[in-house]
Amino acid sequence: MADNPRNEINLLVPVRLDDVGVRVAGITESGPFDSTFKLKCGVIGGKISRPISTGSVNLISSDVTVSPKVRFNYYSHTEDIRQCGNLVEVLRKVLKSEAMEEYKFSGILGPNFFSYIGPSLPEDSSNEESIATLCRVTLLTFWHMHGRCLVNKVVDSRLKVIGVDSIRVVDPSTFFNSPGTNPQATVMMLGRYIGEKILNDRSVNAIRH
Ligand SMILES: Cc1cc2nc3c(=O)[nH]c(=O)nc-3n(C[C@H](O)[C@H](O)[C@H](O)COP(=O)(O)OP(=O)(O)OC[C@H]3O[C@@H](n4cnc5c(N)ncnc54)[C@H](O)[C@@H]3O)c2cc1C
Repeated sequence: MADNPRNEINLLVPVRLDDVGVRVAGITESGPFDSTFKLKCGVIGGKISRPISTGSVNLISSDVTVSPKVRFNYYSHTEDIRQCGNLVEVLRKVLKSEAMEEYKFSGILGPNFFSYIGPSLPEDSSNEESIATLCRVTLLTFWHMHGRCLVNKVVDSRLKVIGVDSIRVVDPSTFFNSPGTNPQATVMMLGRYIGEKILNDRSVNAIRH
C-alpha cells in the first residue's frame, strides 16, 4: 500500500483573516500544492504525487474489530525525497511572490520577514540533507491511502477478489496511484462504473436464462 506524503510550513500572519479553507490550490509539474489561511495562521504545503515508497497492511487477528498493523514507510525511497525537494522550491517561489508580502511582519531595523510556527525552508536550496530533514519533520498525510488491493494482485479487472466469486473491492485500495489532488470524485465514478457493469451483467444473464 501507499499514501501520499503531505508537507506544510506554518506562518503566523500579522493580519486577522476570515476562517477559510484552502484559498489557492494548483497542480505544478512537480505535484499539487495548496495554501490555507485560518485566523492568524497560514499553512502552505503540497502533496507528493505518485510516491515510490510503499508500506504494508497486515492483519494481526481474525477478529474484525482488531485494527490491522499499518506501516506507511513514507520517504523510504530517495526519489520521493527528490520530489519533496521540488515541492520545497515551489513553496520558496510562493513565499517570494508579491501576493505573500502582506503576510510578512514589518522589520523595524531591517526588511520585512515571515514568522514561522515550526520549521522554515532551508536557506540553501542545494543542501540535500537539510531538505530531506525538513521533508521528514514536516511530514503529514493527505489521507489518500491506496494500493492495498491492486488489480491483478488481489482483484481482477472487474474488481472481483481473485478466486472468490461474490466479493468486489471498489475503493481507492485498487488504485496504483492516487489521482490528482483528491481521490474522492474518482472513487465515486469508479463505484458508478462498476455498478453499471454489475447491472449489465445481470441483464445479460437474465436474457440468457
Ligand atoms: C480527514 C480526511 C479528509 C479527506 N479530504 C478529502 C477531500 O477533501 N477530497 C477528496 O477527494 N478526498 C478526501 N479524503 C479521502 C477520501 O475521503 C477517501 O479517499 C474516500 O472517502 C474513500 O472512500 P471509501 O468508500 O473507500 O471509504 P470511506 O469513505 O471511508 O467509506 C467506508 C465506509 O464503510 C463504513 N464501514 C467501515 N467498516 C464497516 C463495517 N464493518 N460495517 C459496515 N460499514 C463499515 C464506514 O463507516 C464508511 O462509511 C479525505 C480523507 C480523510 C480521512
